[in-house]
Amino acid sequence: MPRRTFRRAPLRFQVRAILKSSRRINFPCGLRRLSWGMVALVPSLRIVAPAVALAVLAGCATAPRPAGGDFPQTLRLCPGGGIANAPPAHGDGRVRDFDPMIVARGVMLARAPVEGCLSSGYGPRRGGAGAFHKGVDLYTGRPRPVLAAGDGIVAEAGKRRGFGDTILIRHRNGVETRYAHLSGFAPGMRRGARVRAGDVIGRTGRTGNATAVHLHYEVLIDGKALNPLTVGR
Ligand SMILES: [Zn+2]
Repeated sequence: MPRRTFRRAPLRFQVRAILKSSRRINFPCGLRRLSWGMVALVPSLRIVAPAVALAVLAGCATAPRPAGGDFPQTLRLCPGGGIANAPPAHGDGRVRDFDPMIVARGVMLARAPVEGCLSSGYGPRRGGAGAFHKGVDLYTGRPRPVLAAGDGIVAEAGKRRGFGDTILIRHRNGVETRYAHLSGFAPGMRRGARVRAGDVIGRTGRTGNATAVHLHYEVLIDGKALNPLTVGR
């Protein structure tokens, strides 16, 4: 009997520890519920712990969790051709190897935070010597809701030369995202406001140096703009 008591106390402690850490990591995919079920069904933690670890290793923890809005699951090149810095695409225009979400330095972000087609890729624009495009352009035709690509704090919400009405969101670990040429800001979008992935932060427009309604989207790490379509690979 003393032995049984000795074994049960640490077991309960370990169950609590696993559940606590799963809450902190914020497991998606119903994994948290699954771990509850496993704890209830399987008496031995020797089975539960490796199973949870395996699921995490399988990439479940990096999958997008349900957010306030839905990010586009595919991205297409805008029809018509002649797109500067176009990424590799399938015959029907779908961008190859497009994952809706990325993890850049431990921060989960959307690669395309608005429903639109890609009208310009990242990099030096064809023919324009020295003109380096620091983000991707997502053409939307008419103003459409722009979503926060990830959880963070609004670092800037206002006019910026060339960019027009712009929002800069500071995430964690030196990661930021920028949203330019907006036609309007969502209520409460001011410096210091907290946003969650998928929150509507504004609408696409053509303020600043823009000829069509689109979102200019940047992903910055330590202030350096990287390619939103390849960062995190
Ligand atoms: Zn742009």
